[in-house]
Amino acid sequence: MSNNNIKSVVAIVGRPNVGKSSLFNKITGRRQAIVEDSPGVTRDRLYGESDWNGREFTLIDTGGLEPDSKDLILSKMRAQAQIAIESADVIIFVVDVRTGLTSSDKDVANVILKSGKPVVLCVNKCDNIGENHPDFYEFYNLGMGEPYAVSSVHGHGTGDLLDAVIEALPNLDEVELASADSAVTKIAIIGKPNSGKSSLVNKIAGEERSIVSDIAGTTRDAVDTVIELPPLLRSSPLEEGNNTEKFLLIDTAGLRRKSRVNENIERYSVLRALSAVDRSDVAVIMIDAEEGYTEQDSKIAGYAHEKGKASVIAINKWDLIEKDNKTMGEYRRKLAADFSFMSYAPYVFISAKTGQRIDKLFELCKTTLEQNLTRIGTGRLNDLLAYATSRVQPPTDRGRRLKLYYITQASVAPPTFIVFCNKLDLFHFSYQRYIENRIREAFGLDMTPIRIVPRERGDQ
Ligand code: GDP
Ligand code: GDP
Repeated sequence: MSNNNIKSVVAIVGRPNVGKSSLFNKITGRRQAIVEDSPGVTRDRLYGESDWNGREFTLIDTGGLEPDSKDLILSKMRAQAQIAIESADVIIFVVDVRTGLTSSDKDVANVILKSGKPVVLCVNKCDNIGENHPDFYEFYNLGMGEPYAVSSVHGHGTGDLLDAVIEALPNLDEVELASADSAVTKIAIIGKPNSGKSSLVNKIAGEERSIVSDIAGTTRDAVDTVIELPPLLRSSPLEEGNNTEKFLLIDTAGLRRKSRVNENIERYSVLRALSAVDRSDVAVIMIDAEEGYTEQDSKIAGYAHEKGKASVIAINKWDLIEKDNKTMGEYRRKLAADFSFMSYAPYVFISAKTGQRIDKLFELCKTTLEQNLTRIGTGRLNDLLAYATSRVQPPTDRGRRLKLYYITQASVAPPTFIVFCNKLDLFHFSYQRYIENRIREAFGLDMTPIRIVPRERGDQ
C-alpha cells in the first residue's frame, strides 16, 4: 500500500547531560504547542514533529530512555543507539564541548558508525559566537566528519546542523517509491509487553516462530512476518489468478531480556511501537483484557492517532474473562471512554490463544485501511458542503457570518480535507466537527481518522 504521508525519522543520541533534550526542544519548539494540544499524546515527549526547508520529519529524543543508575550508562547508551539505528533515517549524535571527548562518546560513536546509518555530529554548548572552543577540534577524531558547533540553549548553529540533517535524509522520491512499491498491507501489532502480540503473530503464521513466555519482555526484538491469508479470512474478492493476499505483520515485542537492560523495558517498547506505527498502514492496538487500559496504551494509541493511521483496537485474552451477557457491553462502554480521543477506531474481542475472532480482526484491518485510503471527488464534496451548510447555518459572531466557500481533499492516509472560508476565527471547532461528521456519514468514513484543515480566503 502506498502512503502519501511518509515522514522521515531523525533520532538524537548522546550521553546524559550533553543537551539532547535542550536540542530537541529547540528544534521542535515551534510546533510543540500543536503536538501537545492533541489528545492522548505522550507527556514525556519521546518524539516531536518539525520541519526545515520544507522537509517534515519526526524527531525522537532517545534521552527519554536515560538510565537511572550511573553504572549502566554505557550499556543503556548502546541500547539507545541501537534503537536509533533501527528506527531513524538520520542520527544526530550530540557531544558536549565542555566535557570534551569521553570514552563512552567514542564507544557509542563506533556502534553508530558500524551501522552505516547517516549521522550528523553536534558539538553542543558552544555558546560563544566566533572563535571555536579549543576542545572543539578533537571531535574530528570521532570519524563522523565535520562537527557542527551548536548552542542548544541560545540556538546558535542549529540552522547549519539542520541543513546537514536534511541533506543526509533519503531523497523524497526514493521514500515514496519504496513505500508505494510493496503490494502488501503492513500491519503493526503494538501494545504493552505481555499483551499477546507474539502469540497473535504465531497463531496467524501457524508456527512457533518465537518462544512465548509469561515474563514481560522475554520475546525477541521486532520481527517482520509476511503471511499469505487463506481464502477463509478474506472479506473481499481478489483479482483473478491471485488467490492469496499478503500481509506484513510487524510484531513489536519488548526487548530481549538482556540482564542489564530491563528496567526501562516499558519505555523501550513504547519507542519500538512508535517506529512500527511509522512503517505501517494499519495499527492493531493490543489491550490485555484482564489488565484493561493503561497509561502506556494511551501513549501508543495516541501516536497512531496523531499520525492519522488506520487503527483497530484488539482486546486480547478474551478467553480468560468470565462473561455473562453484559460483559462485552460493559467493556465497550469503558473502552469508549478510554479511547474517546479516537472514537473512530473499531474494537474487536479476540483470543490469540484460541484464534477467536482473528478473522474479524483482519476484516477490520482491511475496512479501516480502505477508508483511510479513500479519495472523494471535489464535486461530491462540494455538493455535501452545500447541503450541510443549508441544513445547519454556519455560526455568526457580532454580525459576521462564517462562509464556507469550497472543500477539496488534499491527501489520503488519513483523508484530509481543506475547507476555504471567509474568517478562520468564525470556523469554530464545533462547526468543524459538524462538517467532519457529515463527511463521515456521507462517504462511509466511520472508522478512520480524518482531518479538516480550515483555510482563509478573501471575501468573494
Ligand atoms: P540531556 O540529558 O542530554 O537531555 O541534556 P539536557 O538537555 O537536559 O541538558 C543538560 C544540561 O545542560 C542542562 O542544565 C542544560 O541547561 C544544559 N545545556 C544544554 N544545552 C546547552 C547549551 O547549549 N549551552 C549551555 N551553556 N548549557 C546547555
Ligand atoms: P507479547 O509480549 O505482547 O508478545 O506477549 P506474548 O505473546 O509473549 O504473550 C504473553 C503471555 O500471554 C504468554 O504467556 C501467552 O501465552 C499469553 N497469552 C497471549 N495471548 C493470549 C490469549 O489470547 N489468551 C490467553 N489465555 N493467554 C494469552
